Amino acid sequence: MKLGLFGGSFDPVHLGHLLVAQAAVEELGLDRLFFIPAAQSPFKPESRPAPASARQQWLRLALAGKTNYEVDDQEIRRGGVSYTIETLRDFVKRFPQAQLFYLIGADNAAKLNEWREAGELAKLAEFVAIPRPGGAAAIFPPPFRGRMLKGFPLGVSSSEIRARLKAGLPVDHLVPPPVAEAIRNGRLYA
Ligand code: ATP
Repeated sequence: MKLGLFGGSFDPVHLGHLLVAQAAVEELGLDRLFFIPAAQSPFKPESRPAPASARQQWLRLALAGKTNYEVDDQEIRRGGVSYTIETLRDFVKRFPQAQLFYLIGADNAAKLNEWREAGELAKLAEFVAIPRPGGAAAIFPPPFRGRMLKGFPLGVSSSEIRARLKAGLPVDHLVPPPVAEAIRNGRLYA
């Protein structure tokens, strides 16, 4: 069984994330793909993300009706800073026979050896870099095994969406429609 793990803040989830998911399922032949919202990213210590309950709800709305895509809440349940090594160990325990693929933005690949317990991390999963438009090809430092996906680069980011909402601009074509509606109703980024 091939499992994809996609960690991030998802503050909020957007169409770039969903296209990454589709490319990963198709190009890697994944059986299941888990979206794993972080409680607090170790790389964004200053950031105060929207409440976890809201980020989870948007993910559920974005993935509604999509078989094989799931939200894994373990990092939110653990709380504190979310370290990928702990999450990967949990997946190894739950799915000892599975082949694990961990998705990351191509720009993050070069710094993988700075992640907590990098040597162990490299043993537990293959890392898969996601292209962003205009971005350079991913470089994987040893001992990481990695590859790059082809499709579908889209220049959308959560920070751009938050900035647009703050400025009162629409985000309807950047996030799935039910997510746009939930964000409007929640007024979390106003
Ligand atoms: P922010 O703008 O707040 O930093 P983000 O849009 O990069 O957020 P995250 O939730 O932090 O979103 O991203 C989770 C993962 O998805 C990261 O590895 C990130 O590089 C990747 N990612 C996000 N947006 C895209 C996109 N448009 N194309 C490809 N990868 C993306």
